[in-house]
Amino acid sequence: MSNLFDLTGRTALVTGANTGLGQAIAIALARAGADIVAAGRSDASETAQAVAEAGRGFHFVQADFGSTADVQRVVDAAIAFRGRLDVVVNNAGIIRRADSLDVTEDDWDAVVNTNMKSVFFVSQAAARYMAKHGGGKIINVASLLSFQGGIRVPAYTASKSAVAGITHALANEWAALGINVNAIAPGYFETNNTAPLRDDPNRAPAILARIPAGRWGVPDDLAGAAVFLASAASNYVHGIVLPVDGGWLAR
Ligand code: NAP
Repeated sequence: MSNLFDLTGRTALVTGANTGLGQAIAIALARAGADIVAAGRSDASETAQAVAEAGRGFHFVQADFGSTADVQRVVDAAIAFRGRLDVVVNNAGIIRRADSLDVTEDDWDAVVNTNMKSVFFVSQAAARYMAKHGGGKIINVASLLSFQGGIRVPAYTASKSAVAGITHALANEWAALGINVNAIAPGYFETNNTAPLRDDPNRAPAILARIPAGRWGVPDDLAGAAVFLASAASNYVHGIVLPVDGGWLAR
């Protein structure tokens, strides 16, 4: 059974791997055997150290996913690192909170470009390679707001609902090419993204009270889902949006 989850010899590109969920996913994939290419706008030396401790290779590519300008260069660099690209995790994302009456077009564009448009075009660039090289695994980071409306984050909800749609659409087209496209939908996790919520004296207890598991997620809680969707264990799994949410959606 353990071989099903073995990523030895694979190369995984993880966007936004310097912190939070992307960092935990990158480290989990490295511990399962993968070499890691981290792409993002901030120094990822902490992730690099953890990947080295797991005995795997690490390469950082400077990139800003607020536009698609860096996308092809990132995917080319990921392929060049070890001469292959097996796994892509589209994790980089932002959230901007405001009442819908006050949301600006700049905020809308920033969120949608990062969370949605770059996800599609990174996937496309990777799939153009994977389709010719025996397939691969694309894992998008969705959200509970791929299923629900959320509060004061309409652009984020739109973008993450689109991530679910993109996951379904690409799975339909690319399953026959040997490419598994799936998504993970994290619940409420302790990262920079949710710091304002955890500091909010009203929202923090309300959120916690709704989580059947009785606690917020910590980034390592995503390790199993990420390794599953990156590995041979999920070879016949296409187009799912897998909640890892302490039971939130079951409520
Ligand atoms: P985080 O700590 O804020 O991490 C976000 C990551 O995305 C960081 O590495 C960040 O880089 C990167 N990023 C943002 N904009 C970027 C850009 N324009 N170019 C390059 N990199 C960019 O939050 P997180 O919670 O780990 O978020 C990771 C993903 O999980 C996001 O897609 C988020 O929407 C999703 N998610 C989070 C939760 C949660 O509860 N935390 C729940 C559901 C979904 P910098 O460090 O440079 O900003």
